[in-house]
Amino acid sequence: MLVQQGESMNDTAQRPLRVSSHGGHSGEFCLHAKDSLAQIVAGYAAQGFDWIGLTEHMPPLTDGGLYPDEQQAGLSAVDLQRQFDRYVATARQLQQDYAGRMTIYVGMETEFYAGAVPWIHELNKLYHFDYLVGSVHHVHERCFDFSAADYAAAVELLGDHDALYCAYFDAQLAMIEHLQPAVVGHFDLIRLYDPDYAERFQQPAVAARIERNLQRIAQLGLMLDFNVRALAKGASEPYVSAPILQRALQLGIDIVPGDDSHGVASVGIGIDEAIKLLQQAGYHCQWRRPKSAAKGE
Ligand SMILES: [Zn+2]
Ligand SMILES: [Zn+2]
Repeated sequence: MLVQQGESMNDTAQRPLRVSSHGGHSGEFCLHAKDSLAQIVAGYAAQGFDWIGLTEHMPPLTDGGLYPDEQQAGLSAVDLQRQFDRYVATARQLQQDYAGRMTIYVGMETEFYAGAVPWIHELNKLYHFDYLVGSVHHVHERCFDFSAADYAAAVELLGDHDALYCAYFDAQLAMIEHLQPAVVGHFDLIRLYDPDYAERFQQPAVAARIERNLQRIAQLGLMLDFNVRALAKGASEPYVSAPILQRALQLGIDIVPGDDSHGVASVGIGIDEAIKLLQQAGYHCQWRRPKSAAKGE
């Protein structure tokens, strides 16, 4: 019995810690999420997470930056900015409440479109985020990930899938250069709604951009979000996909799981799967913690 206990303790000590570098979108502060932020944070604590990053979506600067569901709900950019202000206050309070039990980082997930960079710097000065998740959901000012129809419209706007992928990775590089976010969010999100993405990644123009962006991420010492929300949405693998993961590991890039939770039900979902995949890929799973890396602070 004693030996068994000793073994199981040893086993526990070697198991990678449960963490999430990207998540905590809540129905309280995001229209397409569910539940209160306090409920979501309690969910992480109940699952024994070591640390989590709360990374609510950045509010738009103008009404032009509203998502379709926000427009339909009659919200304005100012409404969302006020809501975001309440998000930061609530998240900071939870950070204090959980001190000593679970480390909470208060961050923000960015957008990248015209005017976003000065706005992000302004928000960062105002709120002193612990770190940023740098994400791109727009190409040529058009959001491509809100729905399959939005994705199809983005493909049409750019001409074809390859051109869309190239434009996405170009926007991502610009985002990386401007913001140097501690965590790059769902690196290959552009494959969403494209069943042929594996071939697309091998097209020379696309492959060159993926390689270029990974090299820059490695140079700057940024981390990748190993985003398992893709699994919950029916994809067969997380962002990043296996060949990109392999290359990132060769380049020495740090990877951290992110559940991209959008409600209590998605807290921690896929994290064990992420850890298993990373272990299989030979990653040490000694997670680096996100640190503020926003430029101009
Ligand atoms: Zn969201
Ligand atoms: Zn995102």
